[in-house]
Amino acid sequence: MTAVSAHAPQPPAETGLAASLTAVERQRILAKSALFAPPTGMLPDGRRDLIGLSREELTEALVAIGEKPFRTKQVWHWLYHQGVTDFARMSSIAKPLQAKLAEQFVIGRPEAATVQTSTDETRKFLFRFRDGQEAETVYIPDRREDRGAVCISSQVGCTLSCTFCHTGTQKLVRNLGAAEIVGQFMAARDSYGEWPSPRGETPRLLSTIVLMGMGEPLYNYENVAKAMKIVMDGEGIGLSRRRITLSTSGVVPMMDQCGSELGINLAISLHAVRNDLRDEIVPLNRKYPIEELIAACRRYPAASNARRITFEYIMLRGVNDSEADARELVRLIAGIPAKVNLIPFNPWPGSAYQPSTREQLAKFAQIVMDAGFASPIRMPRGRDILAACGQLRTESQRERRGLPA
Ligand code: SAH
Ligand code: SF4
Repeated sequence: MTAVSAHAPQPPAETGLAASLTAVERQRILAKSALFAPPTGMLPDGRRDLIGLSREELTEALVAIGEKPFRTKQVWHWLYHQGVTDFARMSSIAKPLQAKLAEQFVIGRPEAATVQTSTDETRKFLFRFRDGQEAETVYIPDRREDRGAVCISSQVGCTLSCTFCHTGTQKLVRNLGAAEIVGQFMAARDSYGEWPSPRGETPRLLSTIVLMGMGEPLYNYENVAKAMKIVMDGEGIGLSRRRITLSTSGVVPMMDQCGSELGINLAISLHAVRNDLRDEIVPLNRKYPIEELIAACRRYPAASNARRITFEYIMLRGVNDSEADARELVRLIAGIPAKVNLIPFNPWPGSAYQPSTREQLAKFAQIVMDAGFASPIRMPRGRDILAACGQLRTESQRERRGLPA
């Protein structure tokens, strides 16, 4: 037994208990997530998709067909730096090996079932995966910076039912796999002809990822984490963790793991500052109330003044947009390196809310700014192409079933 000095700081008993409760909760979340697993990367003809494999898995796959492990680096470079989709274009690899790779493997991409470009150049894709399931991806250009963000989905549907969100009306069908998550970014890059990825610091149009599409990324943590490790790999796509933001409705037990393992930026879908209201519009709040969520933000390891946490706040007329709400918001987040994204509600057919008025938005934003937080009002992009998340998929399903719009 180790002697413990009487003066050694002892953690309070609750800390240990709370920590193990969190670990149990995390296990429960991961186990539930496994019930909605994506299909494997194996095609009916026995070939395997190389996209979405970790480096270790890629090595195993190559070794299994009799190749040396050093091939991994070479193949990885072609897949993720050059973005090729055809083994015949891997010019540093001898022809017979190219043929052998093509016999055993494929380089998958989701199929673009619909592509719509808005007058403001926002481009929305509905990607169809191998089993016919579909998810939305949006490219949002930023003209001032000559770059833009790709908004990626993490699940088909969502288990949570936030009352303002169209995706929330769709049942969770399944999680997206790492290949499908990385595939959305790669297919968006294909559509802009943006391969190979930049050498040095040249800004590129598709240089930022926001995990803000359909689904709750922290309820599909393992696939999301695997995909983000692939896009951050410096010998491939090479996105910095500073250029990736994960948006969560507040799955508190997974937030710490996301911070320590991935170190990417965090956005919190806050949307209400009182538990009674948040319980209603973001029902996950009943499980992880505002105080626990804010405490998890305060300890989020990747947060600093240079890398602030974004609090997303959807402005619903007469529901959460009062000046008292704004004052409570700044009180709640005081001391957190943060910015507040005020999002005008984007109505969809059947939704129960109205967007806040311009005047109310401005008043709210002023209170937040006066408290020292940047408070951009994010204008909804691509209104003319059904930008309310989740709508494109519903339209597509309706068409496939032959129903009128
Ligand atoms: N499930 C995660 C990530 C996807 S939803 C989360 O909730 O954070 C991400 C964001 O989509 C929400 O925070 C909200 O800002 C936005 N959103 C959903 N429905 C919207 C609507 N009708 N109008 C405007 N923004 C909406
Ligand atoms: Fe799911 Fe996010 Fe929509 Fe809520 S806002 S229903 S968590 S996708």
